[in-house]
Amino acid sequence: MSELKYLQDQVDALKAQGVYRVLPVLEGANEAEVILDGKKVINLSSNNYLGFANHPRLKQAAIRAIETHGVGAGAVRTIIGNMDLHEELEQKLAAFKREEAVLVFQSGFNCNAGVIQAVTDTGDLILSDALNHASIIDGVKLSKADRGVFAHSDMADLERILKERRDQYRNCLIITDGVFSMDGDIAKLPEIVALAEKYNCMTYVDDAHGSGVLGESGRGTVDHFGLHGRVDFSIGTLSKAIGVVGGYVAGGKVMKEWLLHRGRPLLFSTALPPAAIGAIIEAVDLLSGTTEYTDKLWENAKFFKARMKALGFDIGHSETPITPVIIGDEAKTVAFSKRLFEAGVFASPIVFPTVPTGTGRVRCMVTAGHTTEQLERAVAAFERIGKEMALI
Ligand SMILES: *Cc1c(COP(=O)(O)O)cnc(C)c1O
Repeated sequence: MSELKYLQDQVDALKAQGVYRVLPVLEGANEAEVILDGKKVINLSSNNYLGFANHPRLKQAAIRAIETHGVGAGAVRTIIGNMDLHEELEQKLAAFKREEAVLVFQSGFNCNAGVIQAVTDTGDLILSDALNHASIIDGVKLSKADRGVFAHSDMADLERILKERRDQYRNCLIITDGVFSMDGDIAKLPEIVALAEKYNCMTYVDDAHGSGVLGESGRGTVDHFGLHGRVDFSIGTLSKAIGVVGGYVAGGKVMKEWLLHRGRPLLFSTALPPAAIGAIIEAVDLLSGTTEYTDKLWENAKFFKARMKALGFDIGHSETPITPVIIGDEAKTVAFSKRLFEAGVFASPIVFPTVPTGTGRVRCMVTAGHTTEQLERAVAAFERIGKEMALI
């Protein structure tokens, strides 16, 4: 067996650069207040936007699904892993998203990895926003199509590339995140769709942070802008606001028919287990019946942002519950997050290479599960430590 010395050297280099990571350990469920590394802290770092990850109704639905369907699907969906539960979920999601068809994958990541390569080919062009998620970047790498990157949400840059290159290709696919996870800004989807229609392109929106957050009762960015029927591939996750695990693509019937034959994660990786599907169906039912959860999420987000802004923090230009507190200097950002943790608030530091050098931030994720009292306590900690560190 090899000693893997080359890996040891690389790990040592990470340590020398001060970017070596030890994973924090969460005890118990993901809640608004948690025990992390043995310390009780207010959780401002999860994607559990609606508090569904430990919701009693979702848990009961998962248990019911285990009783009736067992713990595993037993096969890939194309062989015998396609349970009635999967079919029910896809019908419910399609109705919820107001699209013709939905196909569910095992995660948002592998949905991007599977769909992009399946719907593009040699002779096609993919244009991708510079700040798109890693799973889109990997998905694009798996495609045989040529590619280009446009500056983040820069419509002039996108049109410049379309003018220069569109004519040389059969199909062109424009890909964007719906909500950008590090800044919380929303894609300029109406403009992207207008350019796509002008230059005869297809559109692909990865709405991981828009699902369950934007639009009527969390129907997403496409619903937020009223663009139903004008976006070809609408990707969502079931692992963030929906609280469980999984990803899906919503769109036309023919898209689904093709992906059932060429969506590689569907063909070569076992289907989601019954407990996950049962819980997700319950989540979609909950959201279909009430806007209570999304209303609470936005109420909390507005409250927290207003307080942080009033204190004088730079909270960027977020349009969603994602609230970056921009510090700038990398070391200061990490130190700030550490001090907050000691004061009972967990807000993770995000620094280069995840964001550009000099734009380090502590990213706060407000959820529907936070009480006003918890948010007040978090704001008080930000104020005290912010002043001590001369950040405000
Ligand atoms: C989180 C995220 C994903 C991955 O989703 P998972 O369901 O966690 O695999 C994909 N795209 C974007 C934009 C994301 O933020």
